[in-house]
Amino acid sequence: MTTKQNELILVINAGSSSIKFSLFENSAADPVLLYKGLAEGIYVDPKFTAKDASDAKLVSAEAIPGSAKNHDEALRHMLAWINGVINGRKIAVIGHRVVHGGTKFSQPVVVTAEVVSELEKLIPLAPLHEPHNITPIKILQGLLPDVPQVACFDTAFHANQPELNQLYGLPYEFSQQEGIRRYGFHGLSYEYIASVLPQIDARAAEGRTVVCHLGNGSSMAALQACKGIASTMGFTALEGLPMGTRTGSIDAGVVLHLLNHLKMDAKQIEDLLYKKSGLLGMSGISSDMRDLEASDSPRAKLAIDYFVSRIVRETGSLAAALQGIDALVFTAGIGENDALTRAAVCAQLGWLGVIVDPAANAVRSGEPRRISAEDSKVAVYVIPTNEELMIARQANTCVA
Ligand code: AMP
Repeated sequence: MTTKQNELILVINAGSSSIKFSLFENSAADPVLLYKGLAEGIYVDPKFTAKDASDAKLVSAEAIPGSAKNHDEALRHMLAWINGVINGRKIAVIGHRVVHGGTKFSQPVVVTAEVVSELEKLIPLAPLHEPHNITPIKILQGLLPDVPQVACFDTAFHANQPELNQLYGLPYEFSQQEGIRRYGFHGLSYEYIASVLPQIDARAAEGRTVVCHLGNGSSMAALQACKGIASTMGFTALEGLPMGTRTGSIDAGVVLHLLNHLKMDAKQIEDLLYKKSGLLGMSGISSDMRDLEASDSPRAKLAIDYFVSRIVRETGSLAAALQGIDALVFTAGIGENDALTRAAVCAQLGWLGVIVDPAANAVRSGEPRRISAEDSKVAVYVIPTNEELMIARQANTCVA
């Protein structure tokens, strides 16, 4: 059973200093977005912004009252605003983005006390994300005790990757007993792309597709018949491509060197790898691709070139895992909006049969579109992702 037509679905995506929300209304087809917004600057200077479905601002960075400045105050403020606009209508279900489902959760799950305690056991696997995903679940259990909540996992899409693609070359017990294995992330985005691919390209949906989710966090996944079989992110969301501020893959020996010879402690190394590296660290300018493209600094160019070259190399690796490639999909902030990065990646994939149509690549649109030339062996697409809609769909179908 799902929620009934016209019932409301609240989607929450919480991080360490922000909580994003999207409010959907159920319909006979897909849930329809009504409002979205966020509380940001939690613990520093919390502000609330809300927009309608057409992106028009209804509330612009309004100060959230309170002295604790925490997630609890931010969520109460957000709910009060939502209650004002829904005018007595009830929220039927709340869907949460939860970064890590470990080996236990490979499907969305209705939250119970037992589920919360299982999620808490996963905190060591994603210490920077999981606690912030759990906090709003607990707060909302108190604020809206009658509304079912559903946890939707970023790892779930990858849970059925072949075992070989989940392992590291560590002693086998580490994967079995300690859960040290490659999980993969951005799964809600990949699942959304897999859900729309059949309407866009039946051959790609039945065949071999590499998806590049390029945003502030970036990863890539290999899809065989729309199922994930390999991905660039692993045990944490640090592996694979360089990102806005994260290194991407790095020789584990470098970490030992930082520890043993540069005498950095674990916190300093964590900060370096997660917050000071990637596009920001390499360029010394910004983590935002737009700033790097606007700069004439050689280091900005170096950072972009490194980002592009890692995408090209990972495409080769994922195409090998798939034993060929029928389609390449770009999505997320950079993938959807940055024609220069797409052109640079595709220019180095000619050997694989990729030919881009420059005019099609230059089109700016919020719609899915093909950007490859007629004679390209590999079909190349830009497909805007929609992780919030994916969570709304999952929350909707999960509640009994
Ligand atoms: P996301 O994490 O998916 O929201 O993506 C955020 C990133 O997308 C930003 O950090 C920007 O680097 C990038 N981005 C957004 N718009 C553009 C654009 N027009 N050109 C280049 N990069 C963009």
